[in-house]
Amino acid sequence: MAKKMKGDKNDMGKVAIYPGAFDPLTYGHIDIVERALEIFDKVILAIAHDAEKKSLFTMEERIEMAKLIFKDTPHVIVDSFKGLLVTYVEKTNAKVLLRGLRATSDFEYEFHMASMNRSLSTHLDTLFMMTSKDYFFVSSRTIKQVAKLGGTVEGLVPELVARRLKEKFKLPVSKKRQIGWED
Ligand code: ADP
Repeated sequence: MAKKMKGDKNDMGKVAIYPGAFDPLTYGHIDIVERALEIFDKVILAIAHDAEKKSLFTMEERIEMAKLIFKDTPHVIVDSFKGLLVTYVEKTNAKVLLRGLRATSDFEYEFHMASMNRSLSTHLDTLFMMTSKDYFFVSSRTIKQVAKLGGTVEGLVPELVARRLKEKFKLPVSKKRQIGWED
């Protein structure tokens, strides 16, 4: 077997990239990361700049929250990327993309994305992890909807995220209009 050299591409061990909007991070996402750490040496949480949909939290806010949430988990690296995911992945030494599956409705989209990424980068595989039974109904979208209407998201997102959601939805209407949340 080839000897490992310092600076070798394999030096970092097995790395998986977990891409997503994480707008915001939920316990569904965190559960996937924690389970992936049983398989991989490192998980890079790659937060996507979203060109199409307007995110509730800015990139800076999403990065800051993720870094705080994973501050005691050194094997999780928080990063961000813009543009094509495969271009970003090529700059790392990861060969695996990590994605979560909640329901059959996720499958079709994920299947197309994984196939497209594989066609763009033939050495890149996507590993799917089934959601835990406790989080199959949790999505960032529904979390935002519930929080916006004043419902509780306790137990579904970290305390920090619940607090930040409350702060966001407490903004005065004039400020919301300014940043495009209100017509
Ligand atoms: P969402 O779809 O909730 O807006 P993202 O776009 O950030 O979240 O999703 C990143 C990845 O995490 C996707 O593969 C998505 O299917 C997965 N994911 C999101 N929520 C959950 C959950 N509750 N359980 C398992 N996987 C999840």
